[in-house]
Amino acid sequence: MITGKTKLLGVIGYPVEHSLSPLMHNAAIQAINNQQNQQNQQNLIDYVYLPFPIKPEDLNTAIAGFSAIGVQGFSITIPHKQAIIPLLSEVSDIAQAVGAVNTVYKINKGWAGTNTDVVGFLAPLQTYNWNWHQKVAVILGNGGAARAVVAGCAQLGFAEIHVVGRSEDKLTAFQQSWVNSPLPANLIIHKWDELSSLIPQADLLVNTTPVGMYPHIDRSPVDEAMFESLSPGTIVYDLIYIPNPTKFLRQAQVRGAIAIDGLEMLVQQGATALELWLQQSVPLDIMRDSLRQHLGLT
Ligand code: NAP
Repeated sequence: MITGKTKLLGVIGYPVEHSLSPLMHNAAIQAINNQQNQQNQQNLIDYVYLPFPIKPEDLNTAIAGFSAIGVQGFSITIPHKQAIIPLLSEVSDIAQAVGAVNTVYKINKGWAGTNTDVVGFLAPLQTYNWNWHQKVAVILGNGGAARAVVAGCAQLGFAEIHVVGRSEDKLTAFQQSWVNSPLPANLIIHKWDELSSLIPQADLLVNTTPVGMYPHIDRSPVDEAMFESLSPGTIVYDLIYIPNPTKFLRQAQVRGAIAIDGLEMLVQQGATALELWLQQSVPLDIMRDSLRQHLGLT
């Protein structure tokens, strides 16, 4: 129930109508309260999580307004993940390394930013007890999400991290951007025409491009024929969560790959942010189920 004391959380983006974050965060807040209600009314958490469509030119005004009205924290999606950085008093090491902030929380002197996409990306991989130091990662795409994936692969200690992109200039800039970072020393960049020689080496193959995302569900970033050289047991990970599974994951599963879709990353990055705002553990299963139900997956 929204009262005069209800505190605000939310997501900023433009557009933001498509965001699934309000659904999963409010489901978690409600579930925590339902459980507390049965135990002790005093411990209820009085929060609501809202979508805020904010145009790029309105970002400064909006964040000043958030301070004025006492917003407690917020998620950030496209196009504000880099633009928010100058407006923050503190930026975590991981957000600095990734070059993007997706979670902001209140501190005494203003706002602090971090990046929970790396934790989100890693969560499903960490259920595999692999010796990552001997493994090869091949990452398709060199955009914003690829940065979190590279940072995650570097944290796991992959022997080689290959990034495949379509623009020589963007690939070079991507590689250069890590030069002053403690993260990946073993980053190798490639154009798409080199992919066929990389696929057989891959222990982890990650799609960070939007190719295959709804409504273009019959597309895949990798040709059917190229999957023939994929080793069975390779982990094939698509950051896309609609459709579920994507054509890319279905092609890989036919070849005996372990498939991971983007839904768990979405849930885990959200849960990590909510824990930061509420300073307590949050019900992951409720967050996951709310999304699965919404997407018709249960
Ligand atoms: P982005 O910054 O726009 O990057 C997209 C990348 O894909 C760029 O490198 C782009 O290449 C490449 N690309 C786009 N179309 C392509 C095509 N037709 N062929 C080959 N490469 C293509 O986007 P992003 O923020 O990284 O997001 C990428 C995807 O990840 C989206 O589908 C998004 O929904 C998903 N995602 C999921 C989660 C999650 O929690 N599961 C989190 C973040 C993102 P150029 O640089 O050459 O343009």
